[in-house]
Amino acid sequence: MKCFYDFHIHSCLSPCGDRNMTPHDLVNMAKLLGLDVIALTDHNTCLNCPAAVKVGQSADIAVVPGMELCTCEEVHVICLFPDIAASGAFSEHILSTLPKVVNRPDIFGEQLIMDEQDNVICEHELLLATASTVSVSNVARLVREFGGACFPAHIDRTSYSVISNLGMLTPDMGFTAVELTENADIDEWRQRYPIIKNAGIFIDSDAHYLENMKEAKYTVELRERSAAAVVEYINSLELMK
Ligand SMILES: [Zn+2]
Ligand SMILES: [Zn+2]
Repeated sequence: MKCFYDFHIHSCLSPCGDRNMTPHDLVNMAKLLGLDVIALTDHNTCLNCPAAVKVGQSADIAVVPGMELCTCEEVHVICLFPDIAASGAFSEHILSTLPKVVNRPDIFGEQLIMDEQDNVICEHELLLATASTVSVSNVARLVREFGGACFPAHIDRTSYSVISNLGMLTPDMGFTAVELTENADIDEWRQRYPIIKNAGIFIDSDAHYLENMKEAKYTVELRERSAAAVVEYINSLELMK
């Protein structure tokens, strides 16, 4: 089935995410915009996913629990999981690889963990806007071990992208798809980088504010409207070569 998607959205748990990006409000905004399936991808954590997935169930929108992982090369990678058990285990693992820097909300912003009623459960103590020790060459294998799927984020941006930071994408990284921003010319990118000629390409909002979320436009063909089907789909695509 054809599903309108947005696989890259931040909540109020990302230090740069707006206070209004609560699990309840971002899911309901996605619903209003006509999306069928969204992923919650905060920086280096999945801890607002349990609430967002629950809200998704009552709003009849599939929420994929995910994370925007920052690798040790400062490359952003979107990691998606079939359920909150898998995302929770991955989140815990990544937490153990982050530098032990305590967040300063007055400088970096609040990092709020919420329940499905948008009540603040607690603030995340460690700063999430840091780099993990996971390397871009290991991330695809690691995410698969946790039952998920991943792709490098916003590869057309001039910062925090695999192209800007490493200059290239290589087959040994083990990716099947990439994310481009909506400013990118897909045909031009496929021509310029033959490695992505047959790769999956996702265009997401990377919204940090409710008003940055985008009207449903891009679709993906899924077996069913679920997080598991999204992970299955990404992992079924051909590996880049
Ligand atoms: Zn990013
Ligand atoms: Zn992002």
